[in-house]
Amino acid sequence: MRIVVLGAAESGVGAAVLAQKKGFDVFVSDMGHIKDNYKAQLDSYGLAWEEGRHTAEIILNADEVIKSPGIPEDAPMVLKIKEKGIPVISEIEFAGRYTSAKMVCITGSNGKTTTTSLIYHILREKAGFNVGLAGNIGRSLALQVAEEQHDCYVIELSSFQLDDMFDFRANVAVLLNITPDHLDRYGFCMQNYVDSKMRIVRNQQPDDTFIYWTGDEHVGQELPKYNVQSRVCAFSDAPQDDTVGYADGDLFRLAAPVPFEMPLADLSLPGKHNLRNALAAAMAALAAGAPAEAVRAGLTDFPGVEHRLEKVCDVRGVHYVNDSKATNVDACACALEAMSTPVVLIVGGKDKGNDYSAIVPIVRQKCRALVYLGADNAKLHAAFDDLGLPVADTHSMADCVAACASLAQAGDTVLLSPCCASFDLFHNMEDRGEQFKERVREML
Ligand code: ADP
Repeated sequence: MRIVVLGAAESGVGAAVLAQKKGFDVFVSDMGHIKDNYKAQLDSYGLAWEEGRHTAEIILNADEVIKSPGIPEDAPMVLKIKEKGIPVISEIEFAGRYTSAKMVCITGSNGKTTTTSLIYHILREKAGFNVGLAGNIGRSLALQVAEEQHDCYVIELSSFQLDDMFDFRANVAVLLNITPDHLDRYGFCMQNYVDSKMRIVRNQQPDDTFIYWTGDEHVGQELPKYNVQSRVCAFSDAPQDDTVGYADGDLFRLAAPVPFEMPLADLSLPGKHNLRNALAAAMAALAAGAPAEAVRAGLTDFPGVEHRLEKVCDVRGVHYVNDSKATNVDACACALEAMSTPVVLIVGGKDKGNDYSAIVPIVRQKCRALVYLGADNAKLHAAFDDLGLPVADTHSMADCVAACASLAQAGDTVLLSPCCASFDLFHNMEDRGEQFKERVREML
């Protein structure tokens, strides 16, 4: 059996190592440049690879192709592979074949990394489980399955990973929300993206658990289309008939999978969106077998994740907050909602088909000024200039932070929550967040 892996980064290299270990004839092909650390890893296993091209003759003879999630479905080589009828699967699907560990899987448009990290924190640090962290976050599932023995994995799943999953079974599945994102990869069709996210319930069995938020516009409507076999645990912001997790006055309360409560004031993460993440995480951790005490302790001292509503510092009475991870409109709306001061909002970057009209009301309500930060800010001008707020047009982080400093008044918050991907001006969202923090700290 020959396996070809497309893409040689975290997921592709992990898949290649596992495939080799399982006795397949493996070849790795990356159209771009392979990072040195991944080349070294491939070489250390004696794996064959190419970069800067996809050579058809040594790819189209594969029995199965493992595609990295960053490669679009309509990339020319992927189309050729499909035309030939060669099955294309994800690294997670492949790795799932070789482990019987319990799989706790988290997807959603926003909140995945926070919720995944919180569940991992509870299971590993507080419950003492032998647990791996995988998927979109941390090291690949495949590499851990190849080289380590975990009893349980907490896996962050993007829609791209779900697209190429077929038989994979999530023992605990969390679907946080579905709001427009990545529509450029889904033919600008929301239903395609919704269908992708709903794949997380495929293959669930009666002793599995499905956790979702009833406040989402899509999930409740979609569920009847799926013959969901698992125990369904829905959660909401306030008590509702059909939900088993909610905020009830000053209490955080769960009726299932096991009864649980704690004071809301003890939760470490701020904002309503993080309350939802905490509800989901608590239910998932309990479903995975964590004791209530571990859940309580984890929710109380979880430190949060970098680039997600991360406090940078105060400069001349202005609070600076790095939410570089807010790469879509809904994430920015949540961030604005969590703000209790006037905001100078930094928006812009690589637009993914955004409809900004959804945040115009909250921008009007919360913002003192707007700073556009992108290679091309035309769409932002069209969406927000009519509000009559002071606006600055910038194309570099240095200019952006200088503009923020001159527009903000003492007591305000400057919030980088850009609604967009970062690739127009930065390497990635981490680079954008780092540059922001650096420029801000230079003013101290
Ligand atoms: P993801 O991994 O899905 O991108 P993150 O946990 O990294 O999610 O959070 C990304 C951004 O989304 C955060 O900056 C925050 O503003 C926003 N966010 C976090 N949790 C939620 C949620 N449950 N609902 C909506 N937005 C959220």
